[in-house]
Amino acid sequence: MAKAAQNYLVVTEGLTKQYGSLVAVDNLNLKVKRGTIFGLLGPNGAGKTTTILMLLGLTEPTAGKVRIDGCDPAREPLKVKSRAGYLPDAVGFYQDMTGWENLRYTAELNGLPEDVAEDRIARAVERVGLVDAADRKVGEYSRGMRQRLGIADLLVKDPPLIIMDEPTLGIDPEGVRELLALIRTLAREDGRTILLSSHLLHQVQEICDEVGIFVRGKMIACGTVDDLGRQLLQGKRFSLEVEADPVDERLLNICRSQPGVLELKQDGPRLILLCSRDIRPQLTKEIVTAGYSLQHLTLRGYSLDEIYRRYFIKEEGEYGRTATDTKKTARH
Ligand code: ATP
Repeated sequence: MAKAAQNYLVVTEGLTKQYGSLVAVDNLNLKVKRGTIFGLLGPNGAGKTTTILMLLGLTEPTAGKVRIDGCDPAREPLKVKSRAGYLPDAVGFYQDMTGWENLRYTAELNGLPEDVAEDRIARAVERVGLVDAADRKVGEYSRGMRQRLGIADLLVKDPPLIIMDEPTLGIDPEGVRELLALIRTLAREDGRTILLSSHLLHQVQEICDEVGIFVRGKMIACGTVDDLGRQLLQGKRFSLEVEADPVDERLLNICRSQPGVLELKQDGPRLILLCSRDIRPQLTKEIVTAGYSLQHLTLRGYSLDEIYRRYFIKEEGEYGRTATDTKKTARH
């Protein structure tokens, strides 16, 4: 555990939480590398929030271990509190105080000297784009503004680890885009470690270095989005979509003649190649070398949505659920 803690900021071993006979989190072994963004993915009731609460020491595990930067949340709550900032799905602020006053209150609670506090607050509101709104009462803020103020609140505390529960829930698409860009900078520019839970797969795919897929308390798969796709597609046939210009007989022959290509179909300007393996690197090289302009080359069914859906279907037998039930459970 000590060695792992050097590379990984968050480590759990056999982490389990039972509520009576319900196993909300089942034997979770999680490792989150320092400076990366990790997404906990799963539908309602999968155990994401319970996991987060155990990481933060806000609920006690039934079994297993948690270490945050080598500290045990149950035995060293203050150390964990100084290392881990939490953005819940609904952030609580004083509604009749301004954004700035709320942040000042946080700074006071955290014992920051006034000059340090004012400087951090100024930088935080600027970074989250709330300079103009900082003197308005939080009661007038939109949900997206509250989330950004929540991040400013974390920046005032300045923890190396930030844990976010459904950070983008209920925010309009433009706000989501901005929020995700901001979350990305917290890892890429500041070197912070981010753990977030989400059911919004496209978004997670966009910003997470690694994801863990949760179904009924179990993490059934974990890795980069590419890893998950490879694991899932192992032994299966691959379908590649290719768009290159111009589409002529020579291009079709180049595609057909690649080792691993079993079949070629044309769908308007798009070529669909059924392959026995992933031939993207060799195909890209061949097409470009032959002087074509390659506009699109993608492995079909490689999006996180597809991976997520397929993992659920794969688990169906084990859990005795139907794909329809799973779909109903997932929030959209
Ligand atoms: P959501 O996105 O809906 O919050 P989740 O993946 O975060 O889902 P959890 O909130 O961790 O899931 O819930 C996991 C399971 O544990 C659910 O079946 C839930 O009903 C149950 N559960 C959570 N908290 C408690 C509690 N305090 N007492 C009893 N059961 C609970």
